[in-house]
Amino acid sequence: MRGWPVPPPTPPTKTASQFAVERQLKVSALEAQGLLTSERIKAALLRVPREEFIPAEYRDFAYEEVPLPLPGAAATISCPHSYPLFYEPLGLGLGHRFLEVGTGSGYGAAVAREVVGDTGQVTSIEIDPLTHEFARQNVARAGYADVVLVLGDGGLGHAPRAPYDRIAITAACREIPPPLIAQLTLGGRIIAPLLQDGVQRLTVVTKRADATDRQVICDVLYVRLQGQYGS
Ligand code: SAH
Repeated sequence: MRGWPVPPPTPPTKTASQFAVERQLKVSALEAQGLLTSERIKAALLRVPREEFIPAEYRDFAYEEVPLPLPGAAATISCPHSYPLFYEPLGLGLGHRFLEVGTGSGYGAAVAREVVGDTGQVTSIEIDPLTHEFARQNVARAGYADVVLVLGDGGLGHAPRAPYDRIAITAACREIPPPLIAQLTLGGRIIAPLLQDGVQRLTVVTKRADATDRQVICDVLYVRLQGQYGS
């Protein structure tokens, strides 16, 4: 399977105001592409400084459409367009209890916290201790004190903060781990890249009383889920 090209590590040169211009341009481009329609998701993307969630040697590439390496064995910060790609079909909104599996940089959790607001809650689980520690520092520095970051196997969910209205799995799996369905509210949604015939299909699953509905969004390329329900 072909991966993503990684830009060469470079000492950071851009200023905060340059990044602010790039952030605005990126949001406008995502809107123009039709990937971004929710006002809350748009406001969140404008607010969170993505460059603050990226190792210094890749910071200048913060708003380019490439995933960038993070501390840890198999962690990347996803491309900028990934966040509306996940959060729009998930219907992430004000007041939701949100769980992320695969914290990575912590950027996705910070964006989600802006979307769900003070009446919602954000929990994010990361399996790699180095990556978890990197995210912890980023999230704290950016001031998201009530985002709960958990070190562990996200396939098992996080029962103490359940149930969740929305769950995003940011690593590819064969099936949605059953504990995550169990920790989802009725009518709640999970989004995940699901492996099928060697292809990853970004799929939204809605929990109903007696079944689950599925909707495939598009093909994607993410790192594999590890842990008990790993692919
Ligand atoms: N959402 C992240 C990108 C995540 S990349 C961001 O915004 O930056 C996928 C992450 O999932 C990696 O950090 C990887 O270590 C983590 N991961 C893989 N399997 C996992 C599991 N079972 N539980 C928790 N995290 C897992």
